[in-house]
Formats: sequence, C-alpha cells, structure tokens
Amino acid sequence: MHFSFLLLLYIVRNLKNKNHQKMEKSHENEHPVKAFGWAAKDTSGVLSSFNFSRRVTGEKDVQFKILYCGICHSDLHQLKNEWGTSKYPVIPGHEIVGVVTEVGSKVEKFKVGDKVGVGYFVGSCRECENCTNNLENYCHDQIMTSNGTYSDGTITYGGYSDIMVSDEHYVVHWPENFPIEAAPLLCAGITTYSSLKYYGLDKPGMRIGVVGLGGLGHMAVKFAKAFGTKVSVISTSANKKQEAIERLGADSFLVSRDPDQMQAAVGSLDGIIDTVSAVHPLLPLINLLKTNGKLVMVDPRFLSILILIKLQTMIHN
Ligand SMILES: [Zn+2]
Ligand SMILES: [Zn+2]
Repeated sequence: MHFSFLLLLYIVRNLKNKNHQKMEKSHENEHPVKAFGWAAKDTSGVLSSFNFSRRVTGEKDVQFKILYCGICHSDLHQLKNEWGTSKYPVIPGHEIVGVVTEVGSKVEKFKVGDKVGVGYFVGSCRECENCTNNLENYCHDQIMTSNGTYSDGTITYGGYSDIMVSDEHYVVHWPENFPIEAAPLLCAGITTYSSLKYYGLDKPGMRIGVVGLGGLGHMAVKFAKAFGTKVSVISTSANKKQEAIERLGADSFLVSRDPDQMQAAVGSLDGIIDTVSAVHPLLPLINLLKTNGKLVMVDPRFLSILILIKLQTMIHN
C-alpha cells in the first residue's frame, strides 16, 4: 500500500514535469522559423553561437536575409547589461541591411529581392501623437529591434543573426546602388542627420560644432560638411585632431580642456551637436554659441533629442 502510493506520487510528479517542459518552449522552437545568431549569455561581453527561431512571416511582415549589421555603442551597453535592462541571451544589432526573401499577403511596399534596412525599433503603438506624426522613434511604447519585448510576449533578437522578420512599417528601402557597409546610417546616421536638418543647422556657410568624435560624432561631421557648413570638432583631448581634420574633413579642432582655445571661440558657432553620453559640463559649450545659437544633445539615454537655445537677456537702462 505504502509502496503503491509512492509509485503513484512519482508518476504524477513526472507527468507534471513533462507538461511543464512542453509549456516552456526553448529559444530554438518558440517560433517556427529556424535562425542562427551571435548572442551574449551573460555580462562578460563575449558573444557565442546561438540557435533560435523567428516568427512566420505575417500578413504585413517582411522576411529578409541579413547581409550586414553595424556595431553601435548601444549594442556594447546591452551586451554587458550596462543599462540594467538586458534579458539574456541578447542578440544585439539594430543597423541591419539585407535582401527580402518573403513578404506577407498584405505587404505593399516591398517585394522579394528588394534590399532593405531595419534600425533601432520594430514596433510602436501606432496611435499616439508621435506615431501619427511619423515620429515613431519617440513613441513611449516603442519595441526595440533587440532586447525588446514583442507584442506576442517574446524577446526580440537583433541583427547579429542570419534572418530577420519585421512589420513593413518599420522597414526601409535600401537604394540598390548604395553600399551595404553604410548600415550605421540606420542608427548613428539618422540620429545626427535628422537633428542637423530638423533644427536648421544645415545651411551652407553656418558654423557648426560637433562635440565628441565617436560613432555619432564622426557621422555628424560628415553630414555637416556635406551640407556646406564649417565644422569645428570639440573634444576633451587633442588625440583625435588628425582624424577629425584629415580623414573626416573638419575645418578646425577645439580642445575643450584648453581654456585659451575655448575663450578664443566664444560666441562663434551657429549650432552645436553634442554626441557625448558621459556626464559633462554644458555651460562651456553654450558659451561657444552665437546669440540664439542652438545646442542639440543626442544622448541615447534620453531616447529623444534635447535642444537648448542660447537667449541673451535684454537689459534696458
Ligand atoms: Zn545604435
Ligand atoms: Zn506611439
């Protein structure tokens, strides 16, 4: 009697475990389409091979083979959980270029064989003021391309992988004759391009300062030069002077820790685009602006662009 009871208990427990295992699907079979990527599995920053799965191409979805993916500093933050939000395993990558392999029945903008790109996000609410004004990048319910939670509750995996699927609303056409290596335009590029354009810092002859010469900064220099502005790179040390001037075509270089250089440049710039994500003083930068000059900050932690305008206090006597 006692033995049979134990046996029964054993069988019931075993059945329960088996059911539980069935309910918890592995990364490899939570969706039907097999995929391969490179994932971080802990905070070490090391990537290793990872078999996972992508969803079946839905009505409005575009599936594409990934040809190229840029490496953004946000990827490095996520790999090591430096923002405290990483959901391991993390497949980073949000500057993705590829070629379409399948489209859903209601897809209107794309066909098989098109070159396409996907940037920082693959979903948004589609209803808020930002979404209805084509500013989905500011939506508070935005779904990130990597390390985000999709509407079906599964984790999103980024572009360090072989295959991607996204709603066509968040896919862009990649010009046929455009090099795929330019994938960083999908994050660092658009962030600096749109802020220079939106705030009118794109007029030939303007004097523009670019603070920081990393992933965003070097893009800002190239765009500002292409717009015909005069560009000063502002950096804490002179280390990057040669790169700024000789490789990227900046017109001048200011070392922000050199008080004489900073003093000589007071009131000289129409606008500054500040790409530094570390904490740093703003007043010395504001001093470099002409009256009504604009300081645009593109720190990714804000998930938005902050603009400060230098206004001179009018004192009448
Ligand atoms: Zn990025
Ligand atoms: Zn929205």
